[in-house]
Amino acid sequence: MHQEPIFHALGPRPGPTLVVLAGMHGNEPAGVRAMEGLARRIEARGGIPAGELLGVVGNPGALRAGQRQLDADLNRIWTVPPASVRHMREGRERRRITRILAAARRRSRGELHVVDLHTTSGEGPPFLVVGTSAWGKARGRALPLPLVEGLARRLPGTLTQWLDEQGVHNLVLEAGPHLGEDGPGHALAFLQLVAADLGILPARSHESEEARERLARATRGLPRRLVLSLRHPLRAGDEFRMEPGFRNLDPVRRGQLLAGDRSGPIHAPMDGWLLLPLYQLQGSDGFFMAVPAEDGQATGHVAGSRRGGDVVVAPSPGVRPAGTSPSGPPAAASPPPAPPAPAPPLPRRRAVSNETPDA
Ligand SMILES: [Zn+2]
Repeated sequence: MHQEPIFHALGPRPGPTLVVLAGMHGNEPAGVRAMEGLARRIEARGGIPAGELLGVVGNPGALRAGQRQLDADLNRIWTVPPASVRHMREGRERRRITRILAAARRRSRGELHVVDLHTTSGEGPPFLVVGTSAWGKARGRALPLPLVEGLARRLPGTLTQWLDEQGVHNLVLEAGPHLGEDGPGHALAFLQLVAADLGILPARSHESEEARERLARATRGLPRRLVLSLRHPLRAGDEFRMEPGFRNLDPVRRGQLLAGDRSGPIHAPMDGWLLLPLYQLQGSDGFFMAVPAEDGQATGHVAGSRRGGDVVVAPSPGVRPAGTSPSGPPAAASPPPAPPAPAPPLPRRRAVSNETPDA
């Protein structure tokens, strides 16, 4: 099932290529529903006017199982050597997705763009995540959604990181909670606006107006640009548990109780906005915090916590940074993230190689 793109449309005129990736985590079906919605919309229109659009399911096996992953987190293995994940089912999916992207880039009549659709284990509004992609940043700032910068590079091995290394324009949507009823609609609204911006759908339409209003309504009152200020990574045996009731992009105050683990309570080391509070069994990070972009830039200093550089913006003195022990010797530093392996490169546009880049 879904070995090839589930949706493909080619416009009569040259233009950019947009690859929509959904269901990279098997417990996140909202993106797949959105992709199907976009396909129906395009079929009803009789196709696209220009460029090319591909819909790709990331992890069909995990989707069927309703689990985030089978053997490994498909969105954390993009910068490890292909041989190290060859035996894993997610390693095979990575190979398949790489082949699809390589083929799309070879035949593209414009630039290649990738959007990756996710949802979150916590409740809350939709938001965007971008790495170093200039297109992703510009597009993200123009969309009526909060844009989080600096998060992508704190998550080693994401598709975003790999696409950034390959020079492929990309942007990630977190469309709301995994099984929230608004997720598919938010993701479809996002796809509508991105496709319209690229000329793959008409620039002005009733659907685009609706999409813009929908996303603006869902994110009213939130900062439009945030930078990551803190990551709380998990280690085996932490017994981490998030305090109940937190949502994505909840404002939190310095000193507020957020979670607990074997070492005791974990308080917010600064004022900021909470991201990705962990309310599922599978996952490698407890939560993140971000601050509005202006504050992050004004702070200007970067500090490491006692657990290996997890605090990006230094907390105020006297507050236990998340991820450090309240007393006693500092917790052992986390192992440094694996150095970027030579990622299997995507061919440059119009290259003619037929080799599988991630064999
Ligand atoms: Zn996900």
